[in-house]
Amino acid sequence: MNLFEKAQAVEGLFVKLEEQSKQFHKEAGMGCISGCGFCCSNPEVPASTLEFLPLAFDLYEKGIAEELAAQLAEGNSKGICVVYRAQSTDLSKGFCGNYAKRGMICRVFGASARKNNKTNLKELITCKLLKAERPDAFQNLTVRINADLDIPLAPAYYTQLKDIDEALSELHPVNKAILLALELVLRFHYYETEGTLS
Ligand code: SF4
Repeated sequence: MNLFEKAQAVEGLFVKLEEQSKQFHKEAGMGCISGCGFCCSNPEVPASTLEFLPLAFDLYEKGIAEELAAQLAEGNSKGICVVYRAQSTDLSKGFCGNYAKRGMICRVFGASARKNNKTNLKELITCKLLKAERPDAFQNLTVRINADLDIPLAPAYYTQLKDIDEALSELHPVNKAILLALELVLRFHYYETEGTLS
């Protein structure tokens, strides 16, 4: 698989996850707080180069990949995801500037579960704000995902990412993952053009 094909395989996985998550949200009725960007304002968001290949190809198509890569390489983004558009001074309110091409971590958060190794029970992967604001709903949902409510299992999706490319699945802080993806895409297109010219 070349880099573009890997990006397409990642998008295919996102479509599958999206379908399962949509069904979960419909039945669970516990979505994110409107306008909240708390998770995206965390500079420690762990992400892989691979999950941001679709974003990097999209930014290349829009003609802004090089500029953004230079900005990230200079460290101007203060660690918070470069795609995030903050709408409050404490940065906790805002939105994703490229929701359609967001990474795997952005998709599994609040819409998936992992298994607790000791209890073997599913635990909802969600934020501390939702847990604090809606403790009863959170508890009910925890019971339901361990009874009859279907929920995507994040580790299974991460395994499928690894199956596409294990080396590119290594985790980094989010902006480093985006930078590495942009650099790969820029190199890919550079060699593609060179090949066309020669
Ligand atoms: S890509 Fe979008 S959803 Fe993901 S961390 Fe960045 S701003 Fe948030």
